[in-house]
Amino acid sequence: MAQGFLLKYAEIGIKGKNRYKFENALCEQVRIRLGKIDGDFFVERENGRIYIEASSDFDIDEVIETLQRVSGIAAISPVKVIDDKSWDNLVKEVGDFVESQYDDVNFSFKVKAKRSDKHYQYTSPEICVEMGGCLLDRFPGLSVDVHDPDVYIWVEVRDKAYVYSKVYRGIGGMPLGTAGKAMLLLSGGIDSPVAGYMISKRGVYIDAVYFHAPPYTSERAKQKVVDLAKLVSRYAGKIRLHVINFTDIQMYIYEQCPHEELTIIMRRYMMRIAEHIAKESDCLGLITGESIGQVASQTMQSLAATNDVCELPVYRPLIAFDKQDIVDISQKIGTYETSIEPYEDCCTIFVAKHPVTKPNIEAIRNSEKNLEEKIDEMVRVALETDEIIEIDA
Ligand code: ATP
Ligand code: MG
Repeated sequence: MAQGFLLKYAEIGIKGKNRYKFENALCEQVRIRLGKIDGDFFVERENGRIYIEASSDFDIDEVIETLQRVSGIAAISPVKVIDDKSWDNLVKEVGDFVESQYDDVNFSFKVKAKRSDKHYQYTSPEICVEMGGCLLDRFPGLSVDVHDPDVYIWVEVRDKAYVYSKVYRGIGGMPLGTAGKAMLLLSGGIDSPVAGYMISKRGVYIDAVYFHAPPYTSERAKQKVVDLAKLVSRYAGKIRLHVINFTDIQMYIYEQCPHEELTIIMRRYMMRIAEHIAKESDCLGLITGESIGQVASQTMQSLAATNDVCELPVYRPLIAFDKQDIVDISQKIGTYETSIEPYEDCCTIFVAKHPVTKPNIEAIRNSEKNLEEKIDEMVRVALETDEIIEIDA
C-alpha cells in the first residue's frame, strides 16, 4: 500500500478529442517538477485524473507546495493506495488513513464511495454506510453529517482501493507546453513578473528580455531581474532571459528627441527590440505588465503609441487590474519582496518632469526621424551584444 497524490484537472477536462495531449503535457510537467525534489514518484493518468504514487519517503508539504506551482491542476489530495482491498483490510486501512491525516479525529464526516470493480462485495451506497459505521466504531470523536460535513472521506474501489480526504487547491490554468511561447518584457518592477506568471499559467512557455542601462542601472538592478526571473520560473519552467544593453539607445533618444516624449520613444524601441528577439525565438507574442492609466506611459494614447511598432500581438494580462490586485498576486506568487528592492530602473533615470500623457503617433514618428542617422546601427549592436542567461528554478 503506497502513499501518493490524486490530482484533479482544471479546464483541460473539457478539451474533447485533444484531451490526451493536455493530460500528457500535465503528467510531463508534474514529472519535471517532482524530479527536482526528494523522492521517487510514479505519475500516471487514469479516468480523467492523475495519480502519483511514491515509492520512497518524501516530504508531504514539499510535494504539495511543488504541485501548487504546476499550472493545470485544480486540486491535490494526498491518497493512500491499498493493494489488498478485502473488506476487513480496507476498513483498517481507511481508519489508519483518517488517523494519519487528522491530528484530532473530532469532526462530522461523510463517506463517499465509488466502485468501478463491479464484482466487489458491496455497492457504492453500501460502502458508504458500512465504512461510515466502522469509522464511528473506531473513533468516538466522529459524527455523521450527510448534508454539510466538516470532512469528506472518499473511498474508491477499482483494481486497487484508494482513500483520500484533504483537498489542497491548485493554481488552475492550463499545462505548460500546450500553447506555444511568448516573450515577456521583464523589468525589476512589481507588474511584469505577475504578467509573466499569468500568461504562463495559461500553458504558455515564456522567454524574457530585460533592458539594462549601465552604468545608470547597477549590476544589482540586473541581479534583481535575474532573481525575479528565477521566482517566475518556479511556475513557468525554463526561461531564457535576454539582457539587452540599452544605454546608448537611451542616451541617443535623450539627445535627439523632445524630453517629454522620451519615455514613449524609449518604450517603442524596447518593443521593437523585444519583437525582433521574439520572432527569432519562435515566440507568438509579447507580454508586458502594463495597466491602463497606471503611469503616463500607460494611458490609452500611450499604449496605442507603444503598440504601433509591433506586429506580434502584445499580451497585457494586467490591463484592467488595480495596483492593489497586482500586489496581491505578487505576494501570493512570492515576487513582491524582490520587486520592492530599491534598485533603480532604466526608465526612471531619464524621465521628464512633464511627460506627454496623450502622445500623438504622427508627432512621435516625426521625432523618431531625428534618430535616423545612428539608431539602426545602435539597435544592431544591442542585439549583437544580447547576453543570454538560462533560468531554471
Ligand atoms: P513594472 O512594475 O512591470 O516595472 P511599471 O509599472 O514600472 O511596470 P513601466 O515602467 O511603464 O511600468 O513599464 C511598463 C512595462 O514595460 C513593464 O511592465 C514591462 O513589461 C516593460 N518594461 C519596462 N521597463 C523595462 C525594462 N527595463 N526591461 C524590460 N521591460 C521593461
Ligand atoms: Mg517598471
